[in-house]
Amino acid sequence: MDYLDEGMKRRIKDGLAGMKTVIPGFCPRRQQLQMIAEVSRVLAGDTDERVGVVEAGTGSGKSFGYGLPAVAVATARQQRLVISVSTISLQEQLLQRDLPMLAQGTGWSFTTAIAKGRSRYGCPLKMGKASAPAVRALLAAFRERTWAGDKESVPGHLSVDWAGIAASSQDCIGRACPWYAECPAEQARAAVRQADIVVTNHDLLVADLRAGPGVLLPEPEKCLLVVDEAHGLPEKARNTREGFGVEYAQGALRRSAKRLSTALRRWRFLLGFAEWWRLGQTARALGALSRCLVRLPWPDPTASRWLFDAGVVPRELLATARTLVTASGRLAEHLQERRLALLQDARDGRLDPLVAQEVNAVIGEIGGIATQIGNALALFCARNPGTGPPPARWIDRREEHGQWRHRLRAAEVSAAAFLEEMLWRRTAGAALASATITSMGTFDRFVETCGLRGHVRTLRLPPVFDYQRQGVLCVPSMAHAPDAPGHTAEVCALIRARLRPGEGLLTLFTSRQAMNQAEDLLRDLGPALLVQDRLPKSELLRRHAENIQDGRLSVILGMQSMSEGVDLPGKLCATVVIAKLPFSVPTHPVEITEATWLRQQGRDPFREMTLPATSVKLMQAVGRLIRKETDTGMVIIADNRMTTRRYGQSLLQGLPPFRLDLGRPLAQIQTPGNPP
Ligand code: SF4
Repeated sequence: MDYLDEGMKRRIKDGLAGMKTVIPGFCPRRQQLQMIAEVSRVLAGDTDERVGVVEAGTGSGKSFGYGLPAVAVATARQQRLVISVSTISLQEQLLQRDLPMLAQGTGWSFTTAIAKGRSRYGCPLKMGKASAPAVRALLAAFRERTWAGDKESVPGHLSVDWAGIAASSQDCIGRACPWYAECPAEQARAAVRQADIVVTNHDLLVADLRAGPGVLLPEPEKCLLVVDEAHGLPEKARNTREGFGVEYAQGALRRSAKRLSTALRRWRFLLGFAEWWRLGQTARALGALSRCLVRLPWPDPTASRWLFDAGVVPRELLATARTLVTASGRLAEHLQERRLALLQDARDGRLDPLVAQEVNAVIGEIGGIATQIGNALALFCARNPGTGPPPARWIDRREEHGQWRHRLRAAEVSAAAFLEEMLWRRTAGAALASATITSMGTFDRFVETCGLRGHVRTLRLPPVFDYQRQGVLCVPSMAHAPDAPGHTAEVCALIRARLRPGEGLLTLFTSRQAMNQAEDLLRDLGPALLVQDRLPKSELLRRHAENIQDGRLSVILGMQSMSEGVDLPGKLCATVVIAKLPFSVPTHPVEITEATWLRQQGRDPFREMTLPATSVKLMQAVGRLIRKETDTGMVIIADNRMTTRRYGQSLLQGLPPFRLDLGRPLAQIQTPGNPP
């Protein structure tokens, strides 16, 4: 840490020493110290680049590796700090465990707050109107301050229909609400505005950037940012609106207009000419769009999806869609004015808050439909960017009672330009961390998809585990190619050869069909055979642990999804079998659009998209084996392509440095700590 000023270096060293008082035996690893040094350097502004990316493998103590230096720099410089993680449970873990421990150990003083979406909080005004006993009990608990008001802390014994009581910006009446001062959603917002450290999640971080930035979270220029599990950020940041169903929107608009009229009449207001006129205009534009969609000559009349080449929408459809965007935009604007007037009436006491909420809810519903149309069609109707891939644009349709129902959809292929403009160009300093960022040993794909080129320095920490000693990665000679009919039977023979009492085996398949076939072939294993989705995941893992504890055989058959977030330390996983390389053929419109665009640029989508994605998936799968310094075992990749194709070597480079055993029969291969 020679580059930081003396004060900061001392502060971090003292902080580290302090951690020993709260974590007995705390002794930072070399990798953790490297990470602390790198993160403090980037956040303190001692580097040319304002963004640092660190890949820190399993066991390197990532959360203190970024938490300690980030809090040290932020508190010393009185800068606010935003930490973004991938899930709400990780947010809770940081808030309830890691940050309090850090404060206690270091003696640094800071306030913290959690930033969650509004719908994670209950709306006491709605709860007061509900008659369900569970909701009444919840409201009573809120009044008595035994329930904090958020979804995550609802007492387990109370089963409530959360959607019916969740706070929503669509119907919230804000300051006109009698609960405003105590409202959990409003209090959470206020806490976020005040806190030194805000713990958020990627969804909210991206939503704030799209809305502002600076609407809920501090603006990027005014805070330091840490993004954990950063490998998921490019995908989260892509604008992938679900689109909207044209005929569904027509029906919803009709129903909401009726409800609005009834609500306004009931409360002695008249629906003005202007509202009807604007509503009618939007309804007519929707009708025209629906008719246009039916008339369009589909290239394949039997297909349920039409993906537009290079994102180019047929001219007639584009013109009709644009008319609808204009009409719905005017409607949304008008309703917003109406809504503000209504809330002012409620605030001034001219309108009962409950009445205001009811009318506001219906206005919000229509406004929501109008806004959704506008949002969904904005990208559908936008011009293609001058550089980079165009958005994917497509229509899905299905027949219902002899009528076509259409959904118009559009999604960005890359969030690189958005992240670069809204975040990396503005940030005061950002550190990104994850256990799996690189693919085939480089940061290239991540840097490109994140829009980080020119803004970033990267660091790949050496592995914490001694992979050479602890594990062997074996690609046995296989009699069958991965797509040959006998391949799954051969994989099952490998599984049988590796089964040992009291040692768990995890097999990962790329297709459900192959997994089901393996299940049939291994059925004689009885309770030792545990198959994904035949049992809830927690029950499957419990039975597996029980088998191993009792010294019995146990094998899990799972899909690719089990290669993330499954922790099977020690004997729970002594062998990982990867049935096939997890290649995925581009099938989603976004992937097809990107692949087509790359081809048009003379580039190779297999090398630039498929291989990096496969490398990350393979690393995640292989990562199930060694979870601790005492773990030993074997990874078997039952796919000849690993040794016969040139790309096999590139894929191997992306994996931890296991002892390699390639191209021999499995029987000749020795496992560390476990002779064959
Ligand atoms: S302020 Fe809004 S969210 Fe909060 S209780 Fe009132 S209406 Fe519900």
